[in-house]
Amino acid sequence: MLKAKRVTSIRSSLAWLVAVCLLPAIVMAAVLLTYDYQRQRAELVRDTLAHARAMMYLVDREFAGAEMSLRTLSTSPSLAGRDFAAFQSQSMDVLRKHYANNIVLIDATGQQLINTARPYGQALPKANNMAQLERVLKSGRPDVSDLFIGPVLKRPLINVAVPVYSGSVVTHSLVAVVLPEHLQKMLEGYRFPEERIAIIVDRSGAIVARNRDAERHIGERVSAQLTQRMGETEEGLLESVSRDGIPVLTVFARSAATGWGVVVGIPIAVLTADLWRSLSLLVGLAALLLTSSVGLAWFMGGRVVRPVRALRSVALEIGYGKAVAVPELGIREVDEVGRALAQASSRLAAANEALIDSEARMRGIVESATDAIVILDDSGNIVLFNFAAVTMFGCSREQAIGTPFNRFIPERLRADFAAQLLTQREESHPEQGGASAEVALAMRSNGEEFQVEISFPQVLAGTSEVRTLILRDITARVRIQKALERSNLDLQQFAFVASHDLKTPLRSIGGFVQILERNHAASLDDKALALIRRTSDAVRRLEQLTDDLLSYARVSSHPKPFILVQVREVVNDVMQLLGAAIDDSGSVVTVGDMPEVLGDRTQLVQLLLNLIGNGIKYCQGRTPVVRVSAHRAEREWVFCVADNGIGIDARHHEKVFEVFKRLHTQQEYPGTGIGLAVCRRVVEHHGGRIWVESAPDEGSTFSFTIPDTSAESSSP
Ligand code: ADP
Repeated sequence: MLKAKRVTSIRSSLAWLVAVCLLPAIVMAAVLLTYDYQRQRAELVRDTLAHARAMMYLVDREFAGAEMSLRTLSTSPSLAGRDFAAFQSQSMDVLRKHYANNIVLIDATGQQLINTARPYGQALPKANNMAQLERVLKSGRPDVSDLFIGPVLKRPLINVAVPVYSGSVVTHSLVAVVLPEHLQKMLEGYRFPEERIAIIVDRSGAIVARNRDAERHIGERVSAQLTQRMGETEEGLLESVSRDGIPVLTVFARSAATGWGVVVGIPIAVLTADLWRSLSLLVGLAALLLTSSVGLAWFMGGRVVRPVRALRSVALEIGYGKAVAVPELGIREVDEVGRALAQASSRLAAANEALIDSEARMRGIVESATDAIVILDDSGNIVLFNFAAVTMFGCSREQAIGTPFNRFIPERLRADFAAQLLTQREESHPEQGGASAEVALAMRSNGEEFQVEISFPQVLAGTSEVRTLILRDITARVRIQKALERSNLDLQQFAFVASHDLKTPLRSIGGFVQILERNHAASLDDKALALIRRTSDAVRRLEQLTDDLLSYARVSSHPKPFILVQVREVVNDVMQLLGAAIDDSGSVVTVGDMPEVLGDRTQLVQLLLNLIGNGIKYCQGRTPVVRVSAHRAEREWVFCVADNGIGIDARHHEKVFEVFKRLHTQQEYPGTGIGLAVCRRVVEHHGGRIWVESAPDEGSTFSFTIPDTSAESSSP
């Protein structure tokens, strides 16, 4: 399947270009934003961790403070002297300066000996944080408990315990009871950045203090995941969901001394708020930028498109061959195209006008032609039928156009005509005009048949060939030709018969005049004798004229079949016939090599007799020199008879071949003026030409041709 070529508009291309240019900048901005977010997040984590550490330090310091006070108290002599009443009051003193809630002294069995929360002497319960007691007894080191419910106060609290030594043996555990509210206050007192959720957890992961919603969450445990992480490392970071169901990034710092920890949760929303703000700003800006830029591109595209569209209507007008004026459209390139279009249009319009003129001229020529001009399409149907054709075929243009031309050919000849058309087409050479004329039989629309001469000129119209027929009605010409032939023949017959019939009475007159002169000369006076001589001369001339006329008429009226003739023999005969004249004048006649030709021997004798005879005759006193020669030209022999005689003026070169045309009087040169006319007839009868080259006093060269019909054409 062919893939359709995508068509784009200038406007959309421009809009795309702008969008594509902006896109990298927008992507870059997004990348930078993300990078900035990562950086901010790392900073926030670092900062939050520092806060957690600081808070942890404060808590440790509180416990260490309690521990220090207890250590001092444990060295009290009242304790060693087991004066517990005094010890209680000492403890009360300590408490006054301390944040702890109460101080408890517990013996190794877990029995509370004093508890500042109760008046001295009141029965006290057993301690319930036995695990811590054991740790203190065993290790002999201070200890901070997890959050637990105290047996006296019956509420959550934390014990900071120090061992009481008797010698090197730990005998008691001295405990300062710290209420979680103290730590809560500390936590609240520490100003964590807004939105941070900070908690203090004990070793077991129980929440001891929380800067938000403390009441709800104190005593609850942080997630197992966090507890596990805190067991593994002192500081860390993990993503989780807070107790309130808020996704948070959790940062923690654990105390190496107590195992307690401070956990700070940063709501992810806080973290990403900036990012979202920047991102939405970016998206907004990008959208604004894109729409305004694309809009601008669209607008600019419109400014380009409008002039281009204007050119479109200009181009369409040019299509109608009009010269158009293109207004300035405000874009340099478009204006350049506009100017080019305007130029092209005026040239085109001029060419169009010239074309219309030439077409009108051609139509005028075609219509005024006296020959019928018919143009056919490829199927042989008529597409053009000129006025002469209308007259010739007796068929109106409307009836003729679109119909096959062979309707004007007699039905029996149509197949032949079609074949002839075809061969004409194959053999024709349009570049040479391809015209060749043929005589054919055509038919008028009333069925009358008549002879036409058809020529088939080949006309190239663009790359296609136009079949043209030019027809000439030759009916009249054929009729005239036939009449002429007939009259020519009659004339020849007449001349022949007349001259032949004239000879007998002429001969009689001649005979009578001779008898008169011979027998009655004595009885006649000189005047009569002179008249008789003149009559006798006239009769001789008339006889000569009759002979010449007869021979002239004979050339065509008594044609003989052509035979092979040795021209040399013909020349020899002529020399013999002219023997006396040659001898009398002392003429020199030279004869070159003579060929063999196909012709009428008698006529050829007559031809050469006239030419050589004239050469000897027209010499005016000088010794005649006559040269007879022959040479081969293309497909014919050229014979020349050259003399050194009086020559002929160029004006008379054609005239001398006409009947009775003479350039001299009988007194100057006797003759009838028929000789050269006979020569021309003989030569033409043999299919050749005759002409003379001469100038007065420079001799004459009479040349004639005889076609060379021999198969082998070699030089004589
Ligand atoms: P004619 O019987 O007078 O010779 P032609 O027909 O033979 O008749 O010649 C016609 C005329 O041509 C002649 O009268 C002569 O003036 C001229 N003519 C013919 N042959 C020659 C020639 N060889 N030299 C000069 N003039 C010639």
